[in-house]
Amino acid sequence: MKKLIIQIPCYNEEATLGLTLSKLPRQIPGVDKVEWLIINDGSIDKTVEVAKACKVDHIVNFEHNQGLAKAFMAGIEACLKAGADIIVNTDADNQYNAADIPKLIQPILDGDAEIVVGARPIEEIEHFSPVKKMLQKLGSWVVRIASKTKIPDAPSGFRAISRNAALRLNVFNEYTYTLETIIQAGQKGIRITSVPIRTNNYLRPSRLVKSIPTYIQRSILTIIRIFMTYQPLQFFTILGSVPFTVGFLLCLRWIILYLGILGDSPDKPRTPSLIFAAILIIIGFQLWMFGLIADLMSVNRKLLEDIQLRIRKSDLNSPHK
Ligand code: UDP
Ligand code: MG
Repeated sequence: MKKLIIQIPCYNEEATLGLTLSKLPRQIPGVDKVEWLIINDGSIDKTVEVAKACKVDHIVNFEHNQGLAKAFMAGIEACLKAGADIIVNTDADNQYNAADIPKLIQPILDGDAEIVVGARPIEEIEHFSPVKKMLQKLGSWVVRIASKTKIPDAPSGFRAISRNAALRLNVFNEYTYTLETIIQAGQKGIRITSVPIRTNNYLRPSRLVKSIPTYIQRSILTIIRIFMTYQPLQFFTILGSVPFTVGFLLCLRWIILYLGILGDSPDKPRTPSLIFAAILIIIGFQLWMFGLIADLMSVNRKLLEDIQLRIRKSDLNSPHK
């Protein structure tokens, strides 16, 4: 028996959750059972009452707001416990068109992929400001480089995940799970693909993008941290190359002047520039060393993830499987 669970993280979504749930399918060709799960991320409104009235099958409750990344992961865990073979994640504001869920899970049913990301027609979304569009593109580009995948719309929250892939996901970032999960898929060899999906009309402002400056700041920090975590050697090599190169050139200049290769120069003490060059070279080297250490540490993380996968699997050896 194949079970699909559709999960929705909710933070104060009483106004739109009812509509969103009314559009969700209860039957989909290719799966035997469709269940719904919401994660109440510390809502202080009637989100849970709405969910119960709409006959949601599972509710995960957070006492306080913990943010989307935590809510998403708690949902995944609950879905796995409930015996889901496929998990679909969507938003509570009816942002994504639920009629596209069959399309979203098709690559998993066909065995072609383990994670499917729904790609929105970003250019056509009217309420996205140019800055938000640009950041979405920048984020997607960085994710494509770091993950070596071809996902066009990385921050999309409309996704289908197979049980196998769900067991292997980890999210360290507090703010968003979207970028990290794609990079992990790329690095762990989890097959990931993307299908175009439709979006619905705008119902409410984003809960995640409170203001553009904080959104920019968070996006940049997120991207830097992801690079540091998942491509540490590359990250620190590039970072260290900057002071090293400047220091090296400065050193070269000093040697040329010292040896008088370009003819005699006026008698000026050039010790300050030599000291400065040495400092820069040392900083560059240090950063490279950090890269090596971080790279060794990431080997550890991979080992720990293997252990975690085994523990998760044995914990979940429930009657469902
Ligand atoms: N959400 C959440 N906890 C939060 C913020 C958001 O569970 O702290 C939920 C929210 O209810 C929605 C989903 O995460 O269902 C995505 O949020 P939103 O639609 O505001 O983000 P966007 O689509 O703008 O990225
Ligand atoms: Mg949304």
